[in-house]
Amino acid sequence: MIDITLTFLRTHLDGPTAHFTPGGISTDVCLNTGIEGLFAAGEVTGGLHGADRMGGNALTEAALFGIEAGRQMADFATGKECAVSEDAEITFKNPVLSMFKNDKFYLPPTLKEKDIYELRDELRNLYWNGLNPIRSEKSLANALNELEQFRKKILPPESDNEEFTFNDGKIDEIKEIITLEMSSSLLELCLKSADLRKETRGGHFRKDFVKKDDNYNKNIFWQQGKVFFRDSS
Ligand SMILES: Cc1cc2nc3c(=O)[nH]c(=O)nc-3n(C[C@H](O)[C@H](O)[C@H](O)COP(=O)(O)OP(=O)(O)OC[C@H]3O[C@@H](n4cnc5c(N)ncnc54)[C@H](O)[C@@H]3O)c2cc1C
Repeated sequence: MIDITLTFLRTHLDGPTAHFTPGGISTDVCLNTGIEGLFAAGEVTGGLHGADRMGGNALTEAALFGIEAGRQMADFATGKECAVSEDAEITFKNPVLSMFKNDKFYLPPTLKEKDIYELRDELRNLYWNGLNPIRSEKSLANALNELEQFRKKILPPESDNEEFTFNDGKIDEIKEIITLEMSSSLLELCLKSADLRKETRGGHFRKDFVKKDDNYNKNIFWQQGKVFFRDSS
């Protein structure tokens, strides 16, 4: 065990890093996500802090809205309706369904030759390099390109074929592939959003657009594969 009061701690300082996601699932004031019975609170939600969260506010947010979400869930379970309800959007399209076909699950052939943890490391590196807070159109395009190559290794091929397999004995691999697929979709969403925001703001620094631009006082929403801006007011 390392005692950081006695020993230096090696840290990775290639560049600035992000330790909070100022984006995520959109909820209404009752913390409904738009899917009946699904509530969200904490870092997985978005919009509360704007582009740059103040130090310490993440934990207070998680505690405050976590309690409120619990209350709302209890009300929902006992049939009480939330007093105020607004339209809410889900900002994440679930692509995992495409991996199921006729009750079979697609396990990529690469699994036979490549350890699943190597794929996980590969995706981790794509996140590290692609979502480094210092970005440009070129760096984001490169990252998207690399991501596309990566996804070919885990997604079912577009054309119909016989490579859909289901094997109970491979349940761990299936779990890992689902996680990889969802994580890679989230990376795509982040990279494309970062490309859309042609300005510098908070933890998002564009080398090609170094100034803050008030025309971008908006949040980016993703819904059913469509992307749109909406005023944050
Ligand atoms: C290095 C670092 C330093 C930070 N320092 C500070 C700080 O000083 N002050 C501050 O306020 N904030 C800080 N933050 C941010 C803060 O820690 C987080 O925003 C906060 O912990 C988020 O809480 P949460 O409950 O919303 O989400 P999380 O803590 O991420 O909890 C989500 C939980 O869901 C679980 N989970 C995920 N998927 C599934 C699934 N499919 N099924 C079941 N469970 C699942 C996860 O394992 C996790 O336990 C820091 C973050 C980092 C990374």
